[in-house]
Amino acid sequence: MNKESLICPVCRGRGSLLDVVDLNKSCEEPRGKFLPLAGVPVYYAQCGNCGFCWAPEICKWPMGKFEELIYNDDYVSVDPDYLEKRPNVNANNLRSMFPSLPAHLRHLDYGGGNGLLARLLRESSWNSVSFDPFADRDIALTSLGNFDLITAFEVFEHVPDVQSLVADLRSVLSKDGLVLFSTLLSDGNIVPNQRLAWWYASPRNGHISLFSRRSLARLAQDNGFVFGSFSSGFHAFFRNVPQWAGHIIRAGQD
Ligand SMILES: [Zn+2]
Repeated sequence: MNKESLICPVCRGRGSLLDVVDLNKSCEEPRGKFLPLAGVPVYYAQCGNCGFCWAPEICKWPMGKFEELIYNDDYVSVDPDYLEKRPNVNANNLRSMFPSLPAHLRHLDYGGGNGLLARLLRESSWNSVSFDPFADRDIALTSLGNFDLITAFEVFEHVPDVQSLVADLRSVLSKDGLVLFSTLLSDGNIVPNQRLAWWYASPRNGHISLFSRRSLARLAQDNGFVFGSFSSGFHAFFRNVPQWAGHIIRAGQD
């Protein structure tokens, strides 16, 4: 692996190889489900500055290779909740977070796969649109207009180019908009000079970008966002606290 590929995609700091795992390492392993080894080594690198951890070679794959080796017909076996259960849970959570969202606010579910979350919310009178860079590759994101609320559930860890991801979100977020996203923080789970045993670091699930708190803070700062976390897995980016989301942000700060 050349030195260029070990430059941190978040902060441009110097990364070093952390560990190597088999491509078939999946998030189902804690439940006792192990796939046969693929025989394909996947290296992960970690930045010595911001702690971001990524799989440099997979991050350079063309879309077709992701389709062939990760997001194929067997993907559902390593992420059984993605088709129905997760969109339903997320829709319920959003409805209870925003019981009286002003009707004119536009919501984008970024990375929404088959679009179920946005459909469920539209049934609750939300003004919701789904966009998935993988499923909707014929659509230009900016053609959808601007959005007040953007959600991205279990998206960040799948993205090969995290700078472009945040730039894309920024490009369609209204001035007083809010980005809510989930991804598990690696703090305490990925430790230099220790083997990469964390269940979330699973290439078979497409988890190729793993964020430390510091790396998310850096991404936010570079894009003019404030960064806050509600938990180790649920976070927000925003410029100014939108009036309609003040109760959420205040609750996150307690
Ligand atoms: Zn870094």
